[in-house]
Amino acid sequence: MTFSSLGLSAPLLQALHDKGYEKPTSIQAQVIPSILAGRDVMAAAQTGTGKTAGFTLPLLQRLVKGSCAKPNRVRALVLTPTRELAAQVNESVKQYAKYLSLRSSVVFGGVKINPQMMQLRRGVDVLVATPGRLMDLCNQNAIKFNELEILVLDEADRMLDMGFINDIRKILALLPKNRQNLMFSATFSNDIRKLTKGLLHNPVEIEVSPRNTTATTVKQIIHPVDKKDKPRLLTHLIRENNWDQVLVFSRTKHGANRLVKQLETKKIHAAAIHGDKSQGARTRALAGFKKGEIKILVATDIAARGIDISELPHVINFDLPDVAENYVHRIGRTGRAGASGEAISLVCADEVDVLSDIENLIGKLLPRILIDGFTPSHTLPTTQLGKKGTPSRGKKAKTKAHTKPRRRRAQSDSKNSTRNKQTR
Ligand code: AMP
Repeated sequence: MTFSSLGLSAPLLQALHDKGYEKPTSIQAQVIPSILAGRDVMAAAQTGTGKTAGFTLPLLQRLVKGSCAKPNRVRALVLTPTRELAAQVNESVKQYAKYLSLRSSVVFGGVKINPQMMQLRRGVDVLVATPGRLMDLCNQNAIKFNELEILVLDEADRMLDMGFINDIRKILALLPKNRQNLMFSATFSNDIRKLTKGLLHNPVEIEVSPRNTTATTVKQIIHPVDKKDKPRLLTHLIRENNWDQVLVFSRTKHGANRLVKQLETKKIHAAAIHGDKSQGARTRALAGFKKGEIKILVATDIAARGIDISELPHVINFDLPDVAENYVHRIGRTGRAGASGEAISLVCADEVDVLSDIENLIGKLLPRILIDGFTPSHTLPTTQLGKKGTPSRGKKAKTKAHTKPRRRRAQSDSKNSTRNKQTR
């Protein structure tokens, strides 16, 4: 299979050649012909599968055929959940479109709105946007959708998780009925299916990895450990294994900040990215991590979504996520594009319920490896597929007491992201 056999034009083939891509990934081979043929597409694909090129290349080829965008008009709109992902997608659009005369732009919150309004004035062929800022721009009449030809919802499941459903519905109501719709999502939850009903017309359904399964190239293990010993164990693992590029997941922003401080006191260079960090700080942290100046990037689930770091060797779950599906998203950061990776979870007794949910979701029990010197005094109860975890031995009350604040925190996280988008 080659890119030219998929029907892509010479300027796009040249751009792919410049990037050094030799052949299409599985998702690209499947979606490109359908999109070129004008079909609606619903694709289950995680970051790391090459989905961005999968929709961008045929989208550009279709846009080349029409006349360029008029002032304040947009011809193709790509909606993404996070600023980082929006910036990355826009970067890809620019690279693939380098031999075409199409205009592209990106808008997201956390930065001034005026320069974005100026850019839209001339009209853009491809606009990449986060929903909140896009709504702000619409409300200020900076943008009109009456000539929109193509809509892409990228990481649609995450947009719903982040509470963007109302913004998305408002945006959809502004779009012309006659358009091509492309939806990409890591998983297809019932909410996603509900959204697709009124949105996609007779879509081609494509799935590159079976629903809710984790990439087979990712080695997954857990280290049972007491909660209080987790920072020490993490430091031990980093030193012992000489890791130099590790993405660490923290359940909360506060926990991420605290962990960075603890690592820095051990002279391990680390940075945190989460919703309370400014856009500048997040971009700097990510750039430092990619360059290797920062060894350890500590991220919350929302902030980490869509980060493109190729072939990340290690992902560490310092805490298990609130929701089992996020485990699949998290470990999708490693073992990408066929490279092997390792996902290690530090799990304490309080986390047995979510551990059990995760194991049931991925359909296997995770191997437990005890590390010398870190054997927990609160034993991690055993888990079984098909059964909830058994927080026995007087731990029940504690686990229960944990559940509520955890949920509350998750909600306030998404509230924060809503607040962020409203106060940009
Ligand atoms: P994505 O899933 O779109 O975030 O892409 C994941 C990574 O794969 C990005 O770093 C892309 O640059 C890279 N990539 C996309 N398509 C190809 C390809 N056909 N061959 C090699 N790398 C690719």
